[in-house]
Amino acid sequence: MEDPPSFEFDAGQWVSVPFGPKNVRAYTIASTPAERDTITLCADVAPGGLGSRWFRSLVPDQVVEFKGPLGGFTFDFADTRRPVFVAEEIGIVPIRSILMSLRERADTRPAMLLYQARDRESLVYDAGFTALAERGAGFVYHPLVTPDAGVLVAAVAHHVTSTDGVVAYVAGGEQTIKRVREVLVSRGMDRKAVKWERFW
Ligand SMILES: Cc1cc2nc3c(=O)[nH]c(=O)nc-3n(C[C@H](O)[C@H](O)[C@H](O)COP(=O)(O)OP(=O)(O)OC[C@H]3O[C@@H](n4cnc5c(N)ncnc54)[C@H](O)[C@@H]3O)c2cc1C
Repeated sequence: MEDPPSFEFDAGQWVSVPFGPKNVRAYTIASTPAERDTITLCADVAPGGLGSRWFRSLVPDQVVEFKGPLGGFTFDFADTRRPVFVAEEIGIVPIRSILMSLRERADTRPAMLLYQARDRESLVYDAGFTALAERGAGFVYHPLVTPDAGVLVAAVAHHVTSTDGVVAYVAGGEQTIKRVREVLVSRGMDRKAVKWERFW
């Protein structure tokens, strides 16, 4: 951060990068709010449009302007419900910031992550999540390497057997968010207990 030198945000929020009067792209902050003088973004450049090309062209020390923080896909740390995080592909970014924030706070509430990506390379932050799960501090991790988001929806149906006292955070594409929400609602979950962030 140069101006301002410090940036305050909540885990799960994003910034808007301008490319012209009517062209912006949103990028979620992958790092945690504890780190205020540097923020980390993480992008999937496969879509190949304006934002992807901009990301690919970035060089070290390049000055980047953005607006933010924006968005309400944030974690309520006072909420005592058990979180189930569901990420499709690069939708993992806000969830990564939230999970790392929980770890920084030494918050060991039971939590589950179901995360699908098309190949191993796209399963970003996998090593960190695996390490977190191995520490056995109430965190259960289900990585799914497949191009089929239907597998993610089926995994939610399989692993979320009870929705009692559960709050869900779902991020990725619109279709998958809808399908995951339908599964959870059919299991008795209140629609409002399903928080979501649509990336595409
Ligand atoms: C709130 C919010 C937060 C976001 N955070 C991130 C982030 O942290 N990292 C990140 O990489 N992207 C993020 N995105 C998506 C990002 O803003 C861009 O849409 C993405 O980078 C593609 O931009 P583009 O200009 O290359 O392609 P575009 O020209 O915008 O899109 C090309 C096509 O690909 C679709 N598309 C866009 N992204 C994906 C995707 N990942 N998988 C499949 N299809 C896609 C679009 O719907 C469109 O049809 C976020 C979007 C929103 C709304």
